[in-house]
Amino acid sequence: MTEETEWDIIVIGGGLAGLTSGAYLAMAGKSVLLLEQQDFMGGCCGSYSTGGHHVPAATHMVHDPGLINGILVELGAEEVTFTPPDPVFEVTGPCPGKTLIITQDQEIFERSAKGLVTDAARENVSQGLHRLIELSRQIYYETKSLPLESPELMSFFKRLFLGISMQRKLPMSMQYGRMPVQQFLSSIFPGVEMQCLRSAIRSAVPLRGARALDLLQLLGNVVEGNVFYPDKGVESLIYSLNACFRSHGGVIRTGAKVTSVNVAGGQVTGVTLADESTIRGDNVLSTIDMKELFFALLPDKGAPGLFREKLAKIPLSDSYFTVNFSTTRSPGTTSERRKGVLVVNPAVEEDALFTSDEADLVSLFIHFPKPELDRMQDGRSLVQIMAPVRFMHEDNWHSGPQCEKTGEYIEFKNQYADTLIKRADVVVPGLSSQIMDIAVATPVSYRSCTGNDEGAAYGWRRPRMWRQKVPYTHGLYLAGHWTYPGPGVLKTMMSGKNASRIILSGT
Ligand SMILES: Cc1cc2nc3c(=O)[nH]c(=O)nc-3n(C[C@H](O)[C@H](O)[C@H](O)COP(=O)(O)OP(=O)(O)OC[C@H]3O[C@@H](n4cnc5c(N)ncnc54)[C@H](O)[C@@H]3O)c2cc1C
Repeated sequence: MTEETEWDIIVIGGGLAGLTSGAYLAMAGKSVLLLEQQDFMGGCCGSYSTGGHHVPAATHMVHDPGLINGILVELGAEEVTFTPPDPVFEVTGPCPGKTLIITQDQEIFERSAKGLVTDAARENVSQGLHRLIELSRQIYYETKSLPLESPELMSFFKRLFLGISMQRKLPMSMQYGRMPVQQFLSSIFPGVEMQCLRSAIRSAVPLRGARALDLLQLLGNVVEGNVFYPDKGVESLIYSLNACFRSHGGVIRTGAKVTSVNVAGGQVTGVTLADESTIRGDNVLSTIDMKELFFALLPDKGAPGLFREKLAKIPLSDSYFTVNFSTTRSPGTTSERRKGVLVVNPAVEEDALFTSDEADLVSLFIHFPKPELDRMQDGRSLVQIMAPVRFMHEDNWHSGPQCEKTGEYIEFKNQYADTLIKRADVVVPGLSSQIMDIAVATPVSYRSCTGNDEGAAYGWRRPRMWRQKVPYTHGLYLAGHWTYPGPGVLKTMMSGKNASRIILSGT
């Protein structure tokens, strides 16, 4: 069945990128239909209902709240409030009984770092740490000078000028972008007596194959006081954008899985849904997994073979195993300000971190929301344990060939969650005794919940610079963490804003 309405723009995907772009386009007076396959909005930033509670898909830490709210203000959406965690990370594990406190307060950071080495090595810790912080600051300002605006929106001369000035401005980012993080840490904190410290610092960057640049960017944000939790969870951004999109006249349909983008004579004509209904539209903006778009949704000739071959080979980011539970214990009340992430590091050797997916060897990131900021009314707090893991583990977590959630899958997932909770209990004693509802997500859940191949949390492993206006099919555009400027809350919102500007400018 073909529906009568013909839309100016059909947006596929109701995550941050889809909602942001949709809101800009609707505000500009376009007729916009947003299609979301799930019954809930938000994608990676959504929340789902289980056991009578809303559970976030993932606790998010964000940077640049001013820029995030700047977009909301531009759109006329309700702003959200943010709180900086203090400290940002507390890393336990590599040396029994010792904790590294990664915080903006350099004195506390340094004192805790010295606690992880022998007396003889303490002087070198001060030197190394000052160097690390200095480099992090420089990288922070280098990174800040990068435009968030898509290069497609710039004139030829602006792009040329930018390219030249970037080459001058970004020498450090290029140097540290190539260097493995272990090699970098060994040069700053050399010797076996510093191993525990190196391992504790390394564990704050939950990426396989991380580069020195990843660490320096993260620490740059910490030392410059640019790490925040959205007070009401990242879902509050989704609620705000959702309301704003609708207020500008945008239309949302949930439970609407797009199975094909229809093209005639090289021009987009609309989309077909899983229920076989067809919707007409001159432009389609896709925010979904690019492989899904180019391999499953577009007709065979939607893109040249070479492009498709290249796409197939690009490595994806890792996924997460997440345990959400509510507890009557209040682990967040130890500080007046909101507590940050407790990192449980299982390995003394930094090379061994983020190499295994076994439940007793993965690193844990435990988030404790501050109770009064939590939306639960009955005195309970929500705690989230996240472990960066791969989709490939144990034949895709013992799910069936089509990733069905079989009995074996459920049993394995529950055992895995139990092990993580027991490990968390060692560092937060009594945590497991007061657990109430539990909700668990594996990479298989993230895959089905977002449609992202292998449940990839951040899209590609390294950000790519695709053109957001697809050159092969007229009327097809891209946004989201698969495109420039990359993954994360602000950047995916920016990609949505950029895409809307490209569409509106008719370039
Ligand atoms: C576990 C986890 C932790 C993270 N932590 C952080 C963090 O701390 N800080 C940070 O900045 N970022 C974090 N991120 C990354 C951040 O959430 C993402 O980069 C960002 O939300 C991506 O938004 P998006 O709109 O591009 O894509 P998505 O959120 O993936 O949205 C895509 C939407 O498209 C829908 N869809 C897919 N296929 C179809 C189809 N065929 N038809 C219709 N709809 C479809 C999906 O259901 C989904 O809603 C995290 C991500 C995860 C998963």
